Amino acid sequence: MDNMNPKSIIVIFGATGDLAKRKLFPSLYRLYEKGHLNEQFAVVGVARRPLSADEFRNYVRDSVETAFHQKLADGRFTSHFYYHPFDVTEAESYQRLKSLLEQLDGTYKTEGNRIFYLAMAPEFFGTVTSRLQSEGLTETHGFKRLVIEKPFGHDLASAEKLNDEIRRVFSEREIYRIDHYLGKEMVQNIEVIRFSNAIFEPLWNNRFIANIQITSSETLGVEDRGRYYDHSGALRDMVQNHMLQMVALLAMEPPIKLTTDDIRHEKVKVLRALRPIAHDEVDRYFVRGQYGRGVIHGKNVPAYREEPNVDPDSNTETFVAGKLLIDNFRWAGVPFYIRTGKRMAEKSTKIVVQFKDVPMNLYYRTNETIAPNLLVIHIQPDEGITLHLNGKKTGESTTITAPFQLDYCNNCIDGINTPEAYEKLLYDCMRGDATNFTHWDEVAASWQFVDPISEVWANTKASDFPNYAAGSMGPAAADELLKKDGFHWWPIEHPRS
Ligand code: NAP
Repeated sequence: MDNMNPKSIIVIFGATGDLAKRKLFPSLYRLYEKGHLNEQFAVVGVARRPLSADEFRNYVRDSVETAFHQKLADGRFTSHFYYHPFDVTEAESYQRLKSLLEQLDGTYKTEGNRIFYLAMAPEFFGTVTSRLQSEGLTETHGFKRLVIEKPFGHDLASAEKLNDEIRRVFSEREIYRIDHYLGKEMVQNIEVIRFSNAIFEPLWNNRFIANIQITSSETLGVEDRGRYYDHSGALRDMVQNHMLQMVALLAMEPPIKLTTDDIRHEKVKVLRALRPIAHDEVDRYFVRGQYGRGVIHGKNVPAYREEPNVDPDSNTETFVAGKLLIDNFRWAGVPFYIRTGKRMAEKSTKIVVQFKDVPMNLYYRTNETIAPNLLVIHIQPDEGITLHLNGKKTGESTTITAPFQLDYCNNCIDGINTPEAYEKLLYDCMRGDATNFTHWDEVAASWQFVDPISEVWANTKASDFPNYAAGSMGPAAADELLKKDGFHWWPIEHPRS
């Protein structure tokens, strides 16, 4: 198969949902526009509401036009889309889907290749996969792949159950578990920055690094996802997957080769080396928060407990800060601080690597000791890296320093539009590259780490909720967590923002 222009039928279960509309259709369009999809592809949408093929194509067209604020010139792209309405719990309809796939395979010469994308609630994952098998849709002469969205379970036991169900039908190599952070340009860049620069790797250990801080903050609240979120919370929604994936990429050993297996193997080793947090230690290492009323972008916003579909007495955390320790040779003694939350002061994801101080400081900065060197990786919305250094303060005596920054901005240059995470991940899946998807071993190790924390939080009512105002950077206890170790969160602005 031509690996740059993959041929495949993509069946999207949940094709009338939010994810398909906002992310999947626009991403497929970008791939088509760039010529990454040749004409040998078809997309079949599945959902319950009765739409004709034309209505579905108009729906796809609308979603693309809304995403890119431009009109599609013609119907070439949408002509590849088909719709097959049915309730996925009804066995009979799968036979008709099977006939449609066989017919489209002939029309588009897709060589029997099938991708089943489950863009619907996780409770259907097991049913859909077992029906795909029992009704013969997975019997094909081409490849068969399964793409699944988060959440992958709500704890280790439920994740294991789900995994057992889908593994009866698809092998681990055929399963693509989406963590869309792994499709982000600068998250993918972490490995490249670390392993392609001679100046960082020798310093990338507990002899030279004081701590690493990862912050992923949102200004949005729960919007219309209250029903889902109130049963999930920030720990399950963000930490178990995205935050721990970033920790793994920052802490992993260099892989022997850049193959999927070699990279995943190194990431799993990091997750296994996370020091487990016992139930009675949770308060020492983790802080939970829930937003109260506040002001975002000059507008008053309600408290979490006042949001639609949220329990007015909810114990769910909308903010998590934690201190992680990695018990291996490279990282022993270096805290990794993570922080994520909703309704915070800014929308931003960034990593700050704080280096240790020079062994003997000969200089000073007016009224202060010199600033430590920081390497900042800006993940979103700005993409880039900044290295914080010290130099001589111009015009002053040679003993006085001033901080300065070396900055690289990935998305500041006009015309560079970095691909959306979903665009890259869909293309990877079509080409059979699972590197930026999570392996079961990573999912299992992450739940193992997170489970004791969520157990304690589920079983003890947070008496201080809400404990941070919307528009702030979280509860005071999150600052205390670092202060106890003699550190603080670095409030980093991107130099060009
Ligand atoms: P959603 O808007 O609620 O969409 C659900 C889809 O499933 C709809 O197309 C719905 O269409 C269909 N559906 C529901 N029950 C069905 C049934 N019995 N048979 C056939 N179709 C059925 O959900 P979403 O936000 O797109 O999320 C989809 C998945 O992606 C979830 O696992 C979610 O956690 C995950 N996810 C979403 C986002 C996001 O940005 N939205 C981000 C990360 C992960 P009908 O009502 O017409 O049947």
